Amino acid sequence: MTQRGLFRVLMKAVGIYFMIEGGVTVLYYAAQLIFAVVVEGEISNRWVWSSVVPSIYSAAQLAAGLYLFFAGRFILDLAFPRGPSRCHECGYDLSGNDTDICPECATKITRVQLSQGETP
Ligand SMILES: [Zn+2]
Repeated sequence: MTQRGLFRVLMKAVGIYFMIEGGVTVLYYAAQLIFAVVVEGEISNRWVWSSVVPSIYSAAQLAAGLYLFFAGRFILDLAFPRGPSRCHECGYDLSGNDTDICPECATKITRVQLSQGETP
């Protein structure tokens, strides 16, 4: 597995963690809201202030988890840039490199990769 692939797997793992933690907390506050409206018939100001801020945080955490799990291309490309003259393993810029070895990670580079760029 390439470093880029391993990084992608780690991003998905963090995304799963954020989705679980954020999702459970969002469900908890949603259940509290439903309970307050249905059973108590009103929502107190104290409940709003003690619940809205944490639920916004949890919703943001859930959104971050969804992004890391299902997308995350921007972060992945930031960490491991891709391009015609980039190492497929670590993203190192191979412009002007005449050897078949990446100077950053020592991966063997094929001339096809250098000429065509992106690898699957
Ligand atoms: Zn490399």
